[in-house]
Amino acid sequence: MFADVAFPISQYQVFTYAVKIQHQALIRIGQRVQAPIGQRLMDGVIVSISETTQFGGKIKAIKEILDDKPILDKPLWKLIEWISRYYFTPLGKAANVIPKNLSINYAPQEQWYVEVTSKNKPTKELEQRAPAQYKAYKVLAQFESAVAITKLNKIVASPITICKGLQAKGFVELLKREKNYADDNFSFSPLEKKIDFSAEQQKALDSIDSYFSSNEYAAMLLHGVTGSGKTEIYIKAAEKVLNKGQSVLILLPEITLTPQIAGRIRSVFGEKVGLWHSKLTSAVRAATWSKICNGEYQVIVGVRSAIFAPLKNLGLIIVDEEQDTSYKQEEPEPHYNARDVALMRGKINSAKVLLVSATPSLESYYNHIMGKYAYCYLSKRFKEAVYPQVTVVDMIKEQEESGKTGQVFSGLLQDKISERLKQDEQVILLQNRRGYAPIYRCRDCGEIFDCPTCSIPLTYHRDGDNLQCHFCGYNLKTIPYQCRNCSSEKIYLSGTGTQKVEDIVREAFSGSRIERLDTDSIRSGKELTRTLQEFNKGAIDILLGTQMIAKGLDFGNVTLVGIINADTGLFLPDFRSGEKVFQLIYQAAGRSGRGAIKGEVVVQSFNADNPVIRYAARLDLKKYYNIIIGERKELSYPPFTRLAKAVFVGNDRNRVEKAARQTMNNFSAHKKNIEILGPAWCYREKLRNKYRMQIVFKSSKETDPNGTILHNYISKNLLNQKLAGSIKLNIDIDPVSLL
Ligand code: ADP
Ligand code: ZN
Ligand code: ZN
Repeated sequence: MFADVAFPISQYQVFTYAVKIQHQALIRIGQRVQAPIGQRLMDGVIVSISETTQFGGKIKAIKEILDDKPILDKPLWKLIEWISRYYFTPLGKAANVIPKNLSINYAPQEQWYVEVTSKNKPTKELEQRAPAQYKAYKVLAQFESAVAITKLNKIVASPITICKGLQAKGFVELLKREKNYADDNFSFSPLEKKIDFSAEQQKALDSIDSYFSSNEYAAMLLHGVTGSGKTEIYIKAAEKVLNKGQSVLILLPEITLTPQIAGRIRSVFGEKVGLWHSKLTSAVRAATWSKICNGEYQVIVGVRSAIFAPLKNLGLIIVDEEQDTSYKQEEPEPHYNARDVALMRGKINSAKVLLVSATPSLESYYNHIMGKYAYCYLSKRFKEAVYPQVTVVDMIKEQEESGKTGQVFSGLLQDKISERLKQDEQVILLQNRRGYAPIYRCRDCGEIFDCPTCSIPLTYHRDGDNLQCHFCGYNLKTIPYQCRNCSSEKIYLSGTGTQKVEDIVREAFSGSRIERLDTDSIRSGKELTRTLQEFNKGAIDILLGTQMIAKGLDFGNVTLVGIINADTGLFLPDFRSGEKVFQLIYQAAGRSGRGAIKGEVVVQSFNADNPVIRYAARLDLKKYYNIIIGERKELSYPPFTRLAKAVFVGNDRNRVEKAARQTMNNFSAHKKNIEILGPAWCYREKLRNKYRMQIVFKSSKETDPNGTILHNYISKNLLNQKLAGSIKLNIDIDPVSLL
């Protein structure tokens, strides 16, 4: 018996191995194995099994089977194969989307618990004779039921010995229990709600029902203004699927959204709900995976990689905030988009896919216009909630009038914050940049301090007092006081990040409770959940943060949203920059006035006349989308055009350029229906000491509706290029940006 194995290497080739007698009854497609390749052993995945082989060379044997069952069922394996083909990723690498170190044989660990008994109580004597036991007892006596013995870790030196001593005297009882891998750290306590659907909501539910009534694949876009009840509607839709005995996958773009939505979903589906995200410990990860496999979890709420959760009998996939670019995996390969993978998984599993958003991606919006997806629109906020009033502050005028430059807050925003705080209402402030100041620059010669290995400026962080590269994590602890170019000592911090906003807010509103949420402030899931829950309870007045807090969150008492600098990202040289800024403003505005009190939004901009800012401030999505659809058509960009990006990466700048140019020259003359642009240096020319040059491929959807022309062209002309060993080629299909 022989088996072909794919390894996580850059080659597309698979390798044939003999299967030892003792493995023959066990081996399955989709299992991971360890096998010799060259001089070493490597983990790979079985991709096919056969009785004979055509291979003429010397055949080695598989050394070990790592999973006792395939980690993937047939449909999931089909999905991985599709990813490998579609995203031009060798199968062994595509299979890496499945987390490592998961054992189906996972057995929950046991842990000691301890409980005080009612039989005996210690006396003064114990305090004198065994002070440690007494101390431990005092702590344990505060709890009404058994607690994990680890609670005593910081109290006494050897908790288990101490507790055994206490047990011998009859003061406590030791119990062995299954370790509870609770992921409560990422969930609000279940949020019970009485749901009464409005006529408009009911209509949406009915149309989902009728469109999803067959047993076949179907995709639908649920588009509704912020606060229209989309979450409640998809929870209801999920309930119907569960009642049919099928399972449901709910994707969220961002870990910040998990706690609140998980709390809602748990209150409806209870124990059936599992969470999946990057901050799970490996033990919880293995436990979760095993509960998905054995059917204990029938609902998974998770971020991007949850799209590979091995749910059985999958009936519905919900992709919330489907436009979000964090669904796209940038590193490592495969560069998949979980939204698109969800659609493919839906097809393979004959499941339904519900894309949900207040600001759909232009692609999905256009797919609906073209009749490819069913569509359902909610035009009103739920109940008495109305749309917030938006005011744009022209920061250039503001500067002229006040005579001050570099102001972070306009007078208007400052006044409005005070007003709202006085009425015990809450405020969200958005500044989509983390750190204190994004640029450190010389006043005399203009030199900007950038990362030594990346072509991006270093950001000053007040927490930690250092300069950091937001790409590679490089960290400069001693901050230079002299310009490295002209030795001038006039170096200054320029621009504003969340930490600076925090300082200013703390000073201006010193009596208020203020919290910051960005990737630097979230040290653990527990802390994230705590902050969000406190805000929910009203124990925090002002929540400030990056785009993390701009969408998906639902706090009824927030009546003011301030967007400190709406222009962030507006002028990035990318076809999608306008769309992204629009969506961010629109979403952030959507956090205001979701309850009974009418909300407002203040948008500060140095480009108040820019159409993106203007339409976003009017919350006029359809108008803006129609304008950019026109632009995209004219300039041949998605959704009218399929894109692929080939990035040449290497240590030597000249060689990278040479490889890219040579490849371009070698392209076949018959470029029918394919447009090729470049080569050009990437916007970030150097990252982690590697230079990057790109070529962009376009094909019109009119002539290439399924993308086959583009795919065939790339596989015939690009994949077969012989590149120098030092150059790596990175292919990105459907890139979310051309930066
Ligand atoms: P969206 O996802 O569209 O932004 P949500 O589903 O979060 O909106 O709804 C906004 C708020 O209104 C939430 O607090 C939600 O629980 C509440 N809500 C929406 N629809 C109903 C309903 N039919 N009955 C009760 N509460 C509702
Ligand atoms: Zn200088
Ligand atoms: Zn760097």
